[in-house]
Amino acid sequence: MLRDISAHLPGLLRRRAAGRSVLGLGVVTGGWVDPDSGTVVENSALGWRDVPVRRLLQSATRLPIHLEGHARALAQAELLFGAARGGDLVHLFVGNAVDAAIAAGGTLLRGRRNAAGGIAHLPVPGSGADCPCGGTGCLQATVSDRAFAERAADTGIIAQPVIRQLLAAAQRGDPRALELCRERLRLIAPAVALLLDMISPEVLVLTEAVSLSLPELLPYLHEQIAARTRQAPEQLVRPSSFGPEVLAVAAGTPVLAAVHRDPLALRTAGTAR
Ligand SMILES: [Zn+2]
Repeated sequence: MLRDISAHLPGLLRRRAAGRSVLGLGVVTGGWVDPDSGTVVENSALGWRDVPVRRLLQSATRLPIHLEGHARALAQAELLFGAARGGDLVHLFVGNAVDAAIAAGGTLLRGRRNAAGGIAHLPVPGSGADCPCGGTGCLQATVSDRAFAERAADTGIIAQPVIRQLLAAAQRGDPRALELCRERLRLIAPAVALLLDMISPEVLVLTEAVSLSLPELLPYLHEQIAARTRQAPEQLVRPSSFGPEVLAVAAGTPVLAAVHRDPLALRTAGTAR
C-alpha cells in the first residue's frame, strides 16, 4: 500500500500543488504511532509492525513527513481550533483502530515511545471477538468499524461489509441497523466512563461513525455512559468538532502543528532534504 502511495505522490503533488509551496505531508493512522522515529510501531488492523513510514515517503516526495496517530492528531486539532482550546481533553477514536489521546493544560501526553493512550486491547466483558493480538474480547476487535460492518453483512442487514452501508440503513430507519448502532454505543460506553473517571477531563471528544452520522443517538450514548460513572457525560462527552471529514483534518493537523511549534522551519520546508 505504501509503495502505491509513494508511486502516485510525486505526480499528485505536481498536478495539485501547481506552483504553491507545500509545507509537508501529514500521515495519520490508527494504532501505536511514533512521530519521533517516523514509524508505525504497531497497527494490528493493517497488520503493520515497525513500518518506517517517514523514510519511505520522504524518499518519494522530498517533503517533510509528519506522522501521527489518529487519536492524537485529532486531539491536537481540537486543541488548536475545536472543543477544548488550551484545556484538559480526552479524545477517543473508534474506527478500524481504537485509540485514546490525553491532553493536560493543552499538552498531549505522549508516554514512552509515544505509546500513551493504547486502549485497543481493553477487555470487553462478554465479547468473544478474536483479536490479532491473540486474545479474545478486546475493545478494538469488538467495536471496530470492520467488526460491525461484518456483523451487519453476516445478518443480512446490508449487502457488503461496509460501515457506510450500515450507517445509511440506520439513517433510513432500518430497525435492525439502528439496534446494531445502539449496541456499538453500548459497548463503547464503559471505555468512555473509564476514561472520564481516570482523567476527569473538561471534555471528552468521541470520533466515531455512529455518533457522527446519527446525532439523535447521542442521548442514548450519554445514558449508557452515565450508568457507569458519577461524571456528567451529557456535559462532558461530545462528538468530534470536524464532522464526517474528520480524517482529512487528522492528516492536516500534524503539518500545521509543526508550523505552530517551529515557524522558522518553514524556510526549509519544501526543499530537498
Ligand atoms: Zn487484542
